[in-house]
Amino acid sequence: MRLPLADTLASRTRAGVLFEATAHGALRCTACAHRCVMDDGRTGACGVRTHRAGTLQVPYGYVARKYVRAVESNTIYHVRPGAKALTFGMFGCDLRCPYCHNWRVSQALREDVGEQAPIDITPEALVDEAIAAGCEVLCSAYNEPMITAEWAHAVFALARSRGLVTALITDGHSTSEALAYMRPVTDVFRVDVKGWTQEHYKSLGGRVEPVFASIVEAKRLGYWVELVTLVVPGFNDDPRGLAGLAAQIADIDPSMPWHIDGFVPRYKLRGESATAPTFLAMAAGAAYARGLRYVYVGNIGDAFPELSNTRCPGCAATLIERRNWETLRRETRCTACDLALPGLMGPAR
Ligand code: SF4
Repeated sequence: MRLPLADTLASRTRAGVLFEATAHGALRCTACAHRCVMDDGRTGACGVRTHRAGTLQVPYGYVARKYVRAVESNTIYHVRPGAKALTFGMFGCDLRCPYCHNWRVSQALREDVGEQAPIDITPEALVDEAIAAGCEVLCSAYNEPMITAEWAHAVFALARSRGLVTALITDGHSTSEALAYMRPVTDVFRVDVKGWTQEHYKSLGGRVEPVFASIVEAKRLGYWVELVTLVVPGFNDDPRGLAGLAAQIADIDPSMPWHIDGFVPRYKLRGESATAPTFLAMAAGAAYARGLRYVYVGNIGDAFPELSNTRCPGCAATLIERRNWETLRRETRCTACDLALPGLMGPAR
């Protein structure tokens, strides 16, 4: 079924660069780990990249949503704490998570999600808006940003030239080509790690290996990387599995922040229960025991507010205090231990 939104978006495209030609006249997209091979006229699994006569037409010149909020609302805690961020998103996704927070945009090309319309905008206008609002950070989020990498690249290149920090809020189901393409204009790779087994990812329409390979590659390329795991009861709430995931993250870099977030019933799982805050607090304790230095618990209302603070891993002094994404107090260096917090701390004006 082709939805009307697909026709609306078809004219808002440009020739993309993340693809390669196959020996048989098809194009293989390299923007995400699906690596879709498309004959002329075919569209990839994300619903937004189409082979047209030897070019790959990709989204350009619009957003689905844009908001100015605290940078922490993107679950990034080590990037300009306390700053404002303009966050934009597009339509479509490479995965199909039944608990997606942004399903009305991410799944808008697969199912009837109610009326949706693009907001036409140029990179210049988007960056102007961010600067006029006093933002220090520009984020691409809400859907998978790598499926619209060329658009994000155009926006981020301009944003960088005007002094903004740029961030991809991604599922990490990515490729080395897309990571290399985005790195010159992107500072932050914030990854939703949805599970740790092939079964987890298969149920969401992806594979586990590319996600961990992308995290390692992003670190190698010099992105600042933070990870988030939404703990969904009955899906990935196995304590031993979560502890194993913490150990896997610590093996890559024990200073990589890991956010453990609570599930709130929504979309296709709206009949399920929310994650118990005490379970998440225990998972955080297990993660510290596996060697991680910066573990956060979020999405649990007013329970355990101290678990969203940043503490010095040397002496446990609270350096950054947060409540509901608001930064109340920040020090980026522990004066007792002379330890500087890792990340892109810089000024929050
Ligand atoms: S971004 Fe991913 S899902 Fe979309 S066409 Fe490219 S490889 Fe396929």
